[in-house]
Amino acid sequence: MSDSVPYLLTPGPLTTSATVKQAMLRDWGSRDGRFIDLNAGIRARLVRLAGGSADSHAAVPVQGSGTFAVEAMIGTLVPRAGRLLVLVNGAYGTRMVRIAEVAGRSVAALETAEDQPVSPASLAEALDADPAITHVAVVHCETTSGILNPIEAVAEVVRSRGRALLIDAMSAFGALPLDMAALGAVAVAASSNKCLEGVPGMGFVIARRDALEAAKGNAHSLSLDLHDQWRGFEANAQWRFTPPTHVVAAFAQALDEHEAEGGVEGRGARYRANAAILIDGMRALGFETLLPGHLQAPIIVTFRMPADPAFVFAEFYDRLRERGFVIYPGKLTVADSFRIGCIGRLGAEEMTAAIAAIRATLSEMGVASGAP
Ligand SMILES: *Cc1c(COP(=O)(O)O)cnc(C)c1O
Repeated sequence: MSDSVPYLLTPGPLTTSATVKQAMLRDWGSRDGRFIDLNAGIRARLVRLAGGSADSHAAVPVQGSGTFAVEAMIGTLVPRAGRLLVLVNGAYGTRMVRIAEVAGRSVAALETAEDQPVSPASLAEALDADPAITHVAVVHCETTSGILNPIEAVAEVVRSRGRALLIDAMSAFGALPLDMAALGAVAVAASSNKCLEGVPGMGFVIARRDALEAAKGNAHSLSLDLHDQWRGFEANAQWRFTPPTHVVAAFAQALDEHEAEGGVEGRGARYRANAAILIDGMRALGFETLLPGHLQAPIIVTFRMPADPAFVFAEFYDRLRERGFVIYPGKLTVADSFRIGCIGRLGAEEMTAAIAAIRATLSEMGVASGAP
């Protein structure tokens, strides 16, 4: 296997810039004034990115991967006597159900097929039928398939029925617009290593201050107690427990680069261009996408497995890795498939090179067409 560093065409961790990696080449004391300033800057920027305001919202970083942040959000903001309804159309929705179960919360799932968006109309019926539901959780872009869920319409239903909305925006945050104040969302969870192009090791939740305030004593876990973590940051601007210092430093650099690229609009435009090169290039080779264009988020694309018997996914994967591109297996139940991401520090040049590598690999393998 080649030793060269491949491009990561995956849902994360992702390819990062050299400057983001360089930002990790120093040590920080966790109580150092400059490190404290770095954290304060990050927290303020995350609130703005989520469409919150400093008076009414706060960003609370959490050590760990994105799931830690989602677990902290659900375990802290859903009271022990609350009931959560999760809109499920993929593995990340299912994971939120599991998180609620482990935390001992009353939970229900409203499921849609993996190739269908979640349904605001069914949500309205479910909320009207079950007054015990206090909170609703939804995934913005369900990375399992790459589908974009209609969070505005979901938020409208939740708001009109007086329930609280929690959003897992992990794979969309920083690339797709999200205005939590306009949506009336109580909290949004995401992480350092997806569309914000930092390195892995830190999640975060942006939440309404009144919800954080009211959540004292809710959490089932000490390290994932978002209220306590928030109190810590507000009291002395420090992390309660050892911070992922190098990850934080890289994340501050990544946020600078996000801003320099034009923020959500600029980043989203690059990813849309990446997705277009990927989808057009793959279709020209005969491949078919799982999703029609209007449901496809420009984050990760699911392709149906080719029918040609010469196509063996494990071999395709290894050969592409040799050529410098890492792709991702599928995890759908509705169709045999694989995924290719278009997020991370990649542009037109890399996406075009990826298509050329796929074309060359198919021809090496003797695959005439990618058609399913
Ligand atoms: C990546 C991701 C997560 C978090 O996954 P981790 O592996 O814990 O970082 C959660 N939800 C969605 C939609 C994701 O894409």
